[in-house]
Amino acid sequence: MLDLRWRSIQTQRNSLAALHSACEKAGYTFTQTDTPGGDCTLYSLNSLTAPSYLDEIQNAPCITIIGGPHATACYHELTDIADYVIVGEGEYTLPLLLHALETNSPVPPGVATKNGYTPATTSVYLNAYPCFTKMKGYIEITRGCPYQCGYCQTPSLFGREMRHRSVDAIAECLQYVHDLRFVTPNALAYGSTDKTPRYEKIELLLKTLTADTKKHAYFGTFPGEVRPEYITEHALELILKYSSGNKIHFGAQSGSDHILQKIHRGHTVSDIYHALDLCKQYDIVPIVDLIVGLPGESESDQKETVTLAKDIIRQGKVHAHLFLPLPGTRFSHETSGHIFPETNKVFGSLALAKKLTGSWNRKAP
Ligand code: SF4
Repeated sequence: MLDLRWRSIQTQRNSLAALHSACEKAGYTFTQTDTPGGDCTLYSLNSLTAPSYLDEIQNAPCITIIGGPHATACYHELTDIADYVIVGEGEYTLPLLLHALETNSPVPPGVATKNGYTPATTSVYLNAYPCFTKMKGYIEITRGCPYQCGYCQTPSLFGREMRHRSVDAIAECLQYVHDLRFVTPNALAYGSTDKTPRYEKIELLLKTLTADTKKHAYFGTFPGEVRPEYITEHALELILKYSSGNKIHFGAQSGSDHILQKIHRGHTVSDIYHALDLCKQYDIVPIVDLIVGLPGESESDQKETVTLAKDIIRQGKVHAHLFLPLPGTRFSHETSGHIFPETNKVFGSLALAKKLTGSWNRKAP
């Protein structure tokens, strides 16, 4: 039996939970480690933290396997660093690769090595794998996103068709957790096959999960945010009825219609203000994501985002980021734009007042 280790990386805990349960099902388990070792050490890398681990992987005294969003986007560069690079989803491919290593068989599709790469031919059927077992994580209800925001890795990583875990498969996680938090590109798209919300499916999910009153479901908030145009009376009534807490977290990204169009967000500034109005009406606190320094953003575009931030904090909080060009996205070759002095000043004072959080003034490591 292979001695398998999983390199502990805080941001990748959910990947650990999901892949551990998939491997467990195939008869493989691994222990967590802070240094590479054993027969084989596994890494899940995102594009922000990946640079900190590349030397370690290259010099590891064991077989190394890497996966995650960064490995998927940059596999052709990483085959010089790791022995095996999993491209795309790991639940199906990783157990096959471990079996190939154990039996000295050919590398399966979906794994890149120095010798080449054959893409996987299928995507993962979520119901075939538990979200997690004893190694707990968040409950992933949906993968894939039909939108094409220029800065986002999700569509290239998981595809543009949404795949939802069934209510019954999600309910299996209930035995492991009390607080239910959901991973999804857009919680209010649960059950939908296009861009139309399916409230009856959301209600069935929430009703089932909260039937045991000891469980707390946090729907529409971290880590599974929503899009502003999905915030409707019906959606907020469901959240008030079934979800714990009084917050909703949505991505607005910019206060400029010109920028929203340029990044292909698929909603307008007026959708954002409508969502804020509804939150006020239903006494729900909005937490709103904004991005500054987006490609093509002028000083006047950024001023509109600052104005939006000032409006948001009257009833909620802002989570602001500096745009970072991530590999595998349409904006991968762009550079982070300028943060204008007025933005620094306003965001700085909102941060001091604890109304704004996020890495808006920090470049990637
Ligand atoms: S930012 Fe959200 S809505 Fe846009 S492509 Fe990514 S996951 Fe989809």
